[in-house]
Amino acid sequence: MNKRQFLKTSSVLLANGMLSRLVTGEQQSTARTNWAGNYQYSTDRLLLPKSVEEVQQAVKSSGKLRALGARHSFNGIADSTDTQISLKLLDQMVLDPKSRTVTMGAGVTYGRLAPYLDAQGFAVHNLASLPHVSVVGACATATHGSGSKNGNLSTAVSALEIVTADGEIVTLSRQKDGDRFLGAVVALGGLGVVTKVTLDVQPTFQVRQVVYENLSLGQLESHLDDIFASGYSVSLFTDWQNHQATQVWIKRRVEPGTSFEFAPEFYGAKLATRKLHPVAGHSAESCTEQMGIPGPWHERLPHFRMNFTPSSGAELQAEYFVPRNRAYEAILAVEKLRDKVGPHLFISELRTVEADNLWMSTCYQRPSMTVHFTWKPEWPAVKQLLPMIEEQLAPFDARPHWAKLFTMPPSRLKSLYAKLPEYQELLKHYDSHGKFRNEFLNTNIYGG
Ligand SMILES: Cc1cc2nc3c(=O)[nH]c(=O)nc-3n(C[C@H](O)[C@H](O)[C@H](O)COP(=O)(O)OP(=O)(O)OC[C@H]3O[C@@H](n4cnc5c(N)ncnc54)[C@H](O)[C@@H]3O)c2cc1C
Repeated sequence: MNKRQFLKTSSVLLANGMLSRLVTGEQQSTARTNWAGNYQYSTDRLLLPKSVEEVQQAVKSSGKLRALGARHSFNGIADSTDTQISLKLLDQMVLDPKSRTVTMGAGVTYGRLAPYLDAQGFAVHNLASLPHVSVVGACATATHGSGSKNGNLSTAVSALEIVTADGEIVTLSRQKDGDRFLGAVVALGGLGVVTKVTLDVQPTFQVRQVVYENLSLGQLESHLDDIFASGYSVSLFTDWQNHQATQVWIKRRVEPGTSFEFAPEFYGAKLATRKLHPVAGHSAESCTEQMGIPGPWHERLPHFRMNFTPSSGAELQAEYFVPRNRAYEAILAVEKLRDKVGPHLFISELRTVEADNLWMSTCYQRPSMTVHFTWKPEWPAVKQLLPMIEEQLAPFDARPHWAKLFTMPPSRLKSLYAKLPEYQELLKHYDSHGKFRNEFLNTNIYGG
């Protein structure tokens, strides 16, 4: 933390009478931006409580507040013009093998959780492309991996502990709280500060991952469901050129007592004979093990390894969720923009996600295919392209990823979320004065 940040943070805490009780800021100097560096937070005030009691005090004494996770969102969803609070010091984990659940503090990332679970013989059902995100931050935005039968990461949440606007602790669970729980899991940070989360776990499993090269997109016209069902988790990468997926990543579970081989050809695509990075020409060193070598779930389900900077570093991301039964049409619609998209794109990824019942989930009651774009850090160009992509995908009622870049107006978002009015009621119930409201929520949830 630099001197200016320290003074600002200290003065807020002094004003709140909390300086002696709260850690006053980051230990080392960090820029106040998100991970990608494309979004600068609007405040220098960052609180780092060491306990749930300190979270309660911080919430009680703040006029406006926003929880910050691992800073991996690409837009202002975690921003505040007043104060942000990071729970990264709350990182305890407790496994309950009997109930097959794990409960953890909101500071825990998947990168910490996964080896802890695996060492005790357990696993979560899926992971995103990288493990560096916090569990609470990821679940708040409906972060997902791939797999036609796998719900997004939020679907594993079975209970939440939340400090709401009045500083009180509220616990909500799947078992006891019905609709209210379904509205609270993908809460976009709006309900309060989540201090603990409980996830379903299952016995640990092994996965083998292979990559096939050059799958004609034409194969998806008749075989899309089969292709995405050919592994526990399947991703297609495309640069939208030459009507092909440049790579198909297939992650298959190894079931005890059974064996299988990967065929040398997959719908005309060829099995890769060396490890590959999704972006042509990039070193595959940062990628998880391929070539069919078995390994624990958490070292195969993400594309990128924990100890490496994921993807290409400086980048922008956008992603849209379309109904799976119209996925091929949606692909063709985006492909029409290939000449415009090509120069600004690192790579696109197509994944599938199972439907769920979480009100603000991008997969709410819809088995989905996701169309993802990893862009070069060229925002002026990307900003022009997103409305074009959104227009192409409008006939499919595409929902944008909450944590990535989009330009869709709030009036359009409203029409895509049947439960939006109920979600607004829930926000009002727990936060009647809008303590946790920020510009992102004002625009996208209350605008339009
Ligand atoms: C390189 C890269 C790869 C990615 N890959 C994927 C992917 O494979 N799949 C995918 O779906 N997404 C992916 N994402 C997006 C990412 O998963 C989301 O942005 C996720 O929300 C980030 O979590 P975070 O911990 O960084 O939270 P932040 O970005 O810091 O915050 C996200 C939201 O969570 C809220 N929040 C955080 N902590 C709390 C808390 N304690 N209480 C209440 N609310 C809280 C914040 O207020 C905010 O609304 C990727 C992002 C990057 C940078």
